[in-house]
Formats: sequence, structure tokens, C-alpha cells
Amino acid sequence: MPIPHFTIKNHFQKRHELYEEILTKEILKDICKKITGQNKFTVTFDNIGYNIGRLATLEFNGNIAYVSISEFEIKSRNSFFQSFPSALVKFHEETNSNKAIFFYFLKPNGKINTAYFIFMYRLMKTAGTIFLNEHDHLGISINPFNSVSDIIVQRDFNRGKNKGNASSYVTIDENGILQIFGKTYGANKYETTLLCLAIYAISSQPMELYEIQEKELIKLPKDARNVILSLGIKVITSNLILEREEFENNDSLRSPTYIYNLLEKLGDKKCCLCSCEIPQIIQGAHIWPVASIKRNSALNNDLKLKHAINGDNGLWLCNNHHKLFDINLLYISKDGKISYKTDIEQSHEDFVINFIANKQLPKEILTPEFISYLEKRNSLLESTDYTLII
Ligand SMILES: [Zn+2]
Repeated sequence: MPIPHFTIKNHFQKRHELYEEILTKEILKDICKKITGQNKFTVTFDNIGYNIGRLATLEFNGNIAYVSISEFEIKSRNSFFQSFPSALVKFHEETNSNKAIFFYFLKPNGKINTAYFIFMYRLMKTAGTIFLNEHDHLGISINPFNSVSDIIVQRDFNRGKNKGNASSYVTIDENGILQIFGKTYGANKYETTLLCLAIYAISSQPMELYEIQEKELIKLPKDARNVILSLGIKVITSNLILEREEFENNDSLRSPTYIYNLLEKLGDKKCCLCSCEIPQIIQGAHIWPVASIKRNSALNNDLKLKHAINGDNGLWLCNNHHKLFDINLLYISKDGKISYKTDIEQSHEDFVINFIANKQLPKEILTPEFISYLEKRNSLLESTDYTLII
């Protein structure tokens, strides 16, 4: 039987040490044995260029194994997961169809089993990665996600604990399209790439990736973007120039940044009045309406757009509650209590009252900015026209 052969780029992009110093014979032997069942191997440390993805490839019998090696210096959760998505992208680019991707833990000098780490390991497994030695270092088995909703729920659960730390979100739009909203700068781009490839592996639904840009115009790295596009995932780049065009031309404002900001503030799509969680019928409802913002002559266009896409200027509402709110049949007072228009038919009144499960918005929604938007909206309405739902 031919001897398995490792090829490893020897240089780091930014460090002085070499991979041949870290990946000792014992480590390579262990990897080789676990993948091929053989102890003998040969290795080439390639000194041209640098290693992307902390990657070693192992060729044997016409097969190729991509092995991404973990960090062992645990500085931050972001740095730990920076390399693997690049290895996964390279794996997708590999033309040999007899391929598999693996992850190998080096002995860490810190904690690598927090809730966030486990979430990321699960995404890695969902994307098809085989872990070679998780039991030695994690002490538990990692299970892949079974469904996209499983990912969404777990994502939201993690987010609850580490609010503001998430950089990417998954949701489903009114046409059943899976939408991934991901930031593209710094470490975020790795998480976004991994999330996309993991979801692709378990879903046959059409997918869209929204690249959410902030100040700088940054897209995902070209090779990651190309791999995502080659899988048939639509990539939409959201930047303020496009958002502004949409804002100027359309009062209903289908703004990816607005949706992103609402996901960031409110979490997953869920009507805050009836608790409906069917994402296809949940929408971002403006508190200070887009049409009113546009009419405000005191603001320049940049400020108008800022108000239109502010996560504090909105709620998740189902189709019914969105419409009832838009026509001002429902009213939210400054303390977050819900009222309905008094002069409606009795049968309508019964319906409205019966289908509101939450008569008071939760405190975390009622930020000072949210209340200031509510005041702008309510300044055109008479609170005395409404009856409080108790
Ligand atoms: Zn509702």
C-alpha cells in the first residue's frame, strides 16, 4: 500500500515560528493513524507562501484529507475560529471528489468548551467536518445540528447570554427563503462563512446571504464569496448607498440593514403582541413610519435614513398586527401598554382583544430611543381615542 503523504505550508502569515515546529512527528503520526489506519507517512513542509486555515493535507490511495489544526494559545473565542472557515473554503475548492475535512485539537492552554465554542463546533460538524480527537480535549461529544430551526433557536439562546456578541443571524423571509445576515469585517467574516456552509449542508431551501457593511465597504474574502456563489446561494451586498436608494424610492423599505438591526436588538422573529413565531409572516414594523420620516423637512437625507434603519425604530409584528398598527387601530403608549381604537365594531373589538397575548411590551424593548420614536408617532394621534387592553 502506498505511504500516506502530508503536504503542509510551513510559514505563518504573521508569526515567526514554523509549522514543522508545532506539528511534531508524534502529532502527524496520530493524525495519519486516525484517518488512514496507518502509522507510516511522509511529509513535505512547503516553504513557499504561507499557511491559510492552519491546514495540512494528507493524500492516500487517491483520497485527500483536509486537516485543520486547532489553536492551542487560547486568546479569544474569535481568534480560535478564524482559521477553520478558511480551511473549509479551500476544501470546497478542492477538485478531487474523494475528499473529506477533519479537525484536530492541539492541547489548549485555556478553556475551549464554553457555550459559544460548542455552538461553533456544532456548526463545523454540520458543515461536514469530522473531529479526530474531541474526546481527548472536550470530554463531550459534539452533535451536528439537524435543522435550520435548530440553529436559529440555539443562536438566539446564545445571544441571550452574550447580547451584542453575535455578528450573524439566520431568519426566513415571507417567501420561505433562508436569509443569512452577516457582517463582513474582521473576525465576523469567518463566522458568516461557516454559518452559510453549515446551513447549506442541511437545507434544500433557497438561500440568500446579506453582507451587512458598516462604515467601510468590505465584502467577504473573494474565495469564500466564490465558494458560496458556486453553491447557488445568492449574495446581496447591503451598503448605505443602496439602502438610500431603496429608502428614497419605497415607503415600505425592504432594508437588509433594518432587518439586521432588529434581529440584533429583538432577537429572532416573533410577533411581540401575539408571540407568533412563523417567520414567513413576521415583519419589521416601524414605530416612526418611513413616510413620516421622509416628510420631516428638518432632517437631511442621511439622518432620515439613519432613523429609518435604526433597530430602536421597530418591532417584530405578524402580518395582522403590523396592519392593525399601521392603520393606527392599535396604539402603544410610552409605558409600553397596548390600546385599541374605541370606536370600532364590537366583533372587531373582541377579535383584537383576544389576539393580543402580550398587553405590555417588555422593558428591554422600551429604550429611550424607542420611546422617542413612539412619541413622534403618537404626536399625530389622540390617546383619548383608545381603550387600554387589560
Ligand atoms: Zn401578532
